[in-house]
Amino acid sequence: MAYGKWKNLTVVEHPLIMHKLTMMRIKNTNPKEFRELLHELTFLLVYEATSNLSTIRTQIETPIGPTEGFLINDKEVAIVPILRAGLGMLDGVLTLMPNASVGYLGIYRDPETHLPVEYYCKVPPLINKDVFILDPMLATGASASRAVSIVKNNGAKEDRIFFVSLLSVPEGLQKLLTEQPKIQVFTAAVDEKLNDHDYIVPGLGDAGDRLYRTR
Ligand code: URA
Repeated sequence: MAYGKWKNLTVVEHPLIMHKLTMMRIKNTNPKEFRELLHELTFLLVYEATSNLSTIRTQIETPIGPTEGFLINDKEVAIVPILRAGLGMLDGVLTLMPNASVGYLGIYRDPETHLPVEYYCKVPPLINKDVFILDPMLATGASASRAVSIVKNNGAKEDRIFFVSLLSVPEGLQKLLTEQPKIQVFTAAVDEKLNDHDYIVPGLGDAGDRLYRTR
């Protein structure tokens, strides 16, 4: 479903998604459950985010006879998780598209300037690829927009970039889609707002800490 004023935002609303997201939000959900839920939710989000992937018409033989089939070329797909919480989504995407290339981006927010700082970047050439950037939390939009710029600098075309997040907020969507107007964003929910520490409200807390029990 397109959402509000952003025609290139899809909020993937489905009872399974709503159920699993609710389980993730509950503060007592433990890291094992949290990781499993994120993995399952990534499947459901990426199913939707790949709905326009091109297919190649192919002649095949079933045990009964010849027919025509349709295959995707997942060698033309790249997956770019933003460290560290995006790593929790990587296996889900690789299960669906095992031949995809993977790049890694490390970006943190400077506590004083509040600007995104890139500390790690290892991405394959992205020319002619569909690129799926993964980050469960689309909060201020600053890291997300920086990630899109990096991916574009490595050859990706803006209209072949898909940002997949679990939760988002209007502030972050506004920044990301103003600065990168041709990308597509897929999210399971648009929450209310950011708090003074730039956490999503009601959100689910710090996704990295909950995945890896670091606090
Ligand atoms: N990152 C998180 O992990 N949680 C938020 O709420 C915002 C950014």
